[in-house]
Amino acid sequence: MRLASWTWGGRDHVGTVSPCGKEVTPLAVTDAAAGVLPLIAALAQGHSLPAASGARLPVNAVTLRAPLPRPLRSLFCVGRNYRAHAAELATTVFKDNVANEDGWPIVFTKLADCVVGAHDAVRLPGAAVSTQIDYESELAVVIGQGGKDISKARAMDHVFGYTVVNDVTARDVQMRHKQWDLGKSFDTFCPMGPWIVTADEMDGRRTRVRGWVNGELRQDGLTQDMIFDIPTLIETCSRGITLHPGDVIATGTPAGVGMGMSPPQWLRSGDVMRIEIDGIGSIENRFI
Ligand code: MG
Repeated sequence: MRLASWTWGGRDHVGTVSPCGKEVTPLAVTDAAAGVLPLIAALAQGHSLPAASGARLPVNAVTLRAPLPRPLRSLFCVGRNYRAHAAELATTVFKDNVANEDGWPIVFTKLADCVVGAHDAVRLPGAAVSTQIDYESELAVVIGQGGKDISKARAMDHVFGYTVVNDVTARDVQMRHKQWDLGKSFDTFCPMGPWIVTADEMDGRRTRVRGWVNGELRQDGLTQDMIFDIPTLIETCSRGITLHPGDVIATGTPAGVGMGMSPPQWLRSGDVMRIEIDGIGSIENRFI
């Protein structure tokens, strides 16, 4: 099942997306403004899917919102989780930010407020704030059943589904503050969508993540190449912290970010970034 959030007829809606990704059907939910989040919580409690509340519509006729336009709280994000990406940053200012492959992943957070929809504009902050805006194509895991101290062995039982995010990053700000959160959390810096595909329909542990800038393929990675796999990430993020339905874990980006290029290629006004993940779909955002 694919669950989306959209605006149509001046109102917010939540509903299902046809398997072909071309039609949406609204569901009878009480808080469509909150996107898919209340539905995830209800399904996690054992409630069944609400009935359809209207006719099918072509997806092109609606404005997609992020499936989680207002996430419950900050997103958990994983840094340097693909070996080839870690290698491309080995000669940059981030050379000392090395995840211990025998131990623990790099985990930071991205403020929930920076989430925007699959086709929304990303606003460059202006040169006084940052001149090094970069992209990161990522698979995001959406938690269904919550829990604390979730073991690797049980972790996949807690996955509600998957979506696509662009972990847009101001590299100069990320570096300047040692902690990454500020440089990762500028307004509009987390495009998300186009919808959530539930875990019964795809396995995020085996899929392909690709990113294009202005039509040029920059990133092409397989999630099976993650240093820390999805069960490990869920185990890590839930150690001593209760995960809730709708929590998001962005799993890290494959090689090919702008910072890793020689010379680095920062995003500029007018650039268009497209990210596609097999089994989910694509998001495309213009930087302005
Ligand atoms: Mg990232």
